[in-house]
Amino acid sequence: RPHVGVLALQGDVREHVAVLRALDAEVSLVRRPEELAAIDGLVLPGGESSVIDKLSRSFGMRDPIIAAREAGMPMYGTCAGLILLADQILDGIAGQRTFGGLDVVVRRNAFGSQVDSFETDLEVPKLGAPQVHAVFIRAPLVEEVGERAEVVASLDDGRVVAVRQGALLGTSFHPEVTGETRFHELFLRAVRAAA
Ligand code: GLN
Repeated sequence: RPHVGVLALQGDVREHVAVLRALDAEVSLVRRPEELAAIDGLVLPGGESSVIDKLSRSFGMRDPIIAAREAGMPMYGTCAGLILLADQILDGIAGQRTFGGLDVVVRRNAFGSQVDSFETDLEVPKLGAPQVHAVFIRAPLVEEVGERAEVVASLDDGRVVAVRQGALLGTSFHPEVTGETRFHELFLRAVRAAA
């Protein structure tokens, strides 16, 4: 039974915990560096990436998270979590940093105010049928995908909204709020493979 953590500094932590528990994972909330040592995978929730960035520094979590990621710990980030996993961010607040790991450039709050939030059905080849009902809430877009990263899902117009690189997975949208479990299953598969 995989033991995974959800970074619980800010954001939609409980939604992720519910999905992961429904998939029979053992789930811990992670706020301290020593709590990282007990887990085999980490979810970075949706929320506000600049706040999670700041809190990760004041809780002494930034460097331990980067070290865990560099040591191969599987991680899954949704929305703000995707931003945190990106190597480069556009339209961050002044001084905003990411943990990095995904060879991509993301633009924070990339959808204009008229479509601040929207829902759509996505074809995700890796997951097959049915399509993914995707909820976007002040979502980021993946504007550039580097050589090491792989596109997992795009909007009809080709804009990239989900990527994967090794044991890292990121989605602009929030499967944790719609009952969609397949992205968390991919994450748990990576956790089992790494453990
Ligand atoms: N706009 C938020 C950010 O910059 C992300 C929103 C979300 O996670 N739903 O982090």
